[in-house]
Amino acid sequence: MPWKKAAEMETTMKDTNCIFCKIANGEIPSRTLYEDERYRVILDLGPATKGHALVLPKEHFASIYEIPEDWAAGAVKIGQQIAVRMKERLHTDGVNLVQNNGEAAGQTVPHFHLHVIPRYQNDGQHILWKPGKASDAELDEIVEAMK
Ligand code: AMP
Ligand code: ZN
Repeated sequence: MPWKKAAEMETTMKDTNCIFCKIANGEIPSRTLYEDERYRVILDLGPATKGHALVLPKEHFASIYEIPEDWAAGAVKIGQQIAVRMKERLHTDGVNLVQNNGEAAGQTVPHFHLHVIPRYQNDGQHILWKPGKASDAELDEIVEAMK
């Protein structure tokens, strides 16, 4: 999108007080499914479903608002690969990729992470939202505001 400025700062930041910085960089042990130069994928310790994983950048970006575009894209690419492998190896029936930003959106750890939540028929989880209603005026107002 033309108005969308990439977060251009290229940092090599780690936050010494951040638990996900420590996990991503191997200072705190984790059950790791995948690792490369930029990312570590770990199993969530409070899993929504069996196999719930988190894609963690090894550098500290608090949320989608701070992470550079290529790092965000890389996280999604790895999320896709993990989802495909889970389908093959764990025989999952579906997957939710979830990424929370800000307290209002349910973010509890302020280090960007992408949830890969495998889904199984009748797994009893409720990750989807309750549909609301919007007037034509409201929809038009949003389109206008976003120009
Ligand atoms: P969010 O609410 O999107 O910030 O997600 C934070 C997630 O991190 C939750 O699903 C937690 O269960 C998970 N979590 C928190 N601490 C740890 C940890 N030490 N190891 C693995 N997962 C964690
Ligand atoms: Zn961090």
